[in-house]
Amino acid sequence: MQKNIAIVGAGFSGAVIARQLAEAGYQVEIFESRPHIAGNCHSERDAETGVMVHIYGPHIFHTDIERVWEYVNRYSRFMPYVNRVKAITNNSVYTLPINLLTINQFFGKTFRPAEAQEFLASLGDKSIENPVTFEDQALRFVGKELYEAFFKTYTVKQWGMQPTELPASILKRLPVRFNYDDNYFAHKYQGMPENGYTDLVEKIMDVPGITLHLNTKFDPANKGDYAHVFYSGPIDAWFKHSEGRLPYRTLDFEVFRDTGDYQGNAVINYCDDSQPYTRITEHKHFSPWEKHEKTLMYKEYSRQCEEKDIPYYPIRQARDKQQLERYVTVAREEPNVTFVGRLGTYRYLDMDVTINEALDTADKFLECAKGNERMPAFVIDPLA
Ligand SMILES: Cc1cc2nc3c(=O)[nH]c(=O)nc-3n(C[C@H](O)[C@H](O)[C@H](O)COP(=O)(O)OP(=O)(O)OC[C@H]3O[C@@H](n4cnc5c(N)ncnc54)[C@H](O)[C@@H]3O)c2cc1C
Repeated sequence: MQKNIAIVGAGFSGAVIARQLAEAGYQVEIFESRPHIAGNCHSERDAETGVMVHIYGPHIFHTDIERVWEYVNRYSRFMPYVNRVKAITNNSVYTLPINLLTINQFFGKTFRPAEAQEFLASLGDKSIENPVTFEDQALRFVGKELYEAFFKTYTVKQWGMQPTELPASILKRLPVRFNYDDNYFAHKYQGMPENGYTDLVEKIMDVPGITLHLNTKFDPANKGDYAHVFYSGPIDAWFKHSEGRLPYRTLDFEVFRDTGDYQGNAVINYCDDSQPYTRITEHKHFSPWEKHEKTLMYKEYSRQCEEKDIPYYPIRQARDKQQLERYVTVAREEPNVTFVGRLGTYRYLDMDVTINEALDTADKFLECAKGNERMPAFVIDPLA
């Protein structure tokens, strides 16, 4: 049996599948169109400041999935890091997600948890019984003042759409904590790989049986040269956009440097319209165990993704899902190709979910090979 496998993309999806299959005895070739590995998680030390920079925007590793935490710790030491986000709105600085401190500061109160809960319930718009839009849901949960200060303008800046155009499902739960917990993520494990994400991905790929081709775009016409292809590029690009381009948001980063400490925190969101950007990230705060005199920041702007831009966030409005459905239908007919990762399945995926799905995908492939069964086009249903 032919045992050579092509993997398109050297992000977490590609790297993890490659390692699992190489360890099982397959010859794996990875094709990556960029000049580096690690996909959008790529990090690089800035020559001028010495700071480790998250080139495609800030990435914080957080997970509840035991096997994923154990997996990444095999390849890198994880340093303690807790993401604490601040927000500027109405000329004041607050803590995000909205917590007891945010509520007390915002309303000039000294509420205890139960009092704050009761107060917030009194602010919620009770006339909205069946929330349809993001705006309805936010007004129902937190009332007009908090909604306008923290959600309304920020949503427009991030998504280029009015909250009245977005579904209520975006805000599934009450986005508020009635305590002073300011840890942005509620997961059991959180941290930063000591030498950056690219080093971690390099170590994952460091096993006999893997050949890496950088600066090499994989052409679907060459799929016949391999027993199987795992594709972590954009699903619409595989089919030459035959059903139209799936819409994404892209990001522009304005990079600037300074000395000392620019903002005293890794991430500060700008929730009102005092600034056109959504946030400023100061990268050296992601490595609190390192010391740097100089500092490097990103001002982050969000806009619609055009043909030449890097796709970041899939939009997944109802009409986009219909388009995705058409791609999924043709993909299911495509023999010997499995679509994986954030672009291959057109979903926003955190790194831990990406790694978990990649492990499942490799397991499924090995199981199918053993039982002589057809490997499906999707291990995880992108329409679910
Ligand atoms: C701004 C931003 C911030 C994020 N922050 C976090 C965070 O804090 N925590 C977290 O857990 N997750 C975060 N994520 C999610 C994280 O980036 C993804 O989970 C991860 O990148 C998914 O990995 P992937 O391998 O599926 O995709 P990618 O990293 O996108 O890798 C796909 C690779 O395929 C290559 N490729 C595509 N087509 C071809 C082709 N035809 N030939 C060759 N190569 C090709 C691309 O160049 C790319 O390198 C964030 C995402 C964004 C957009």
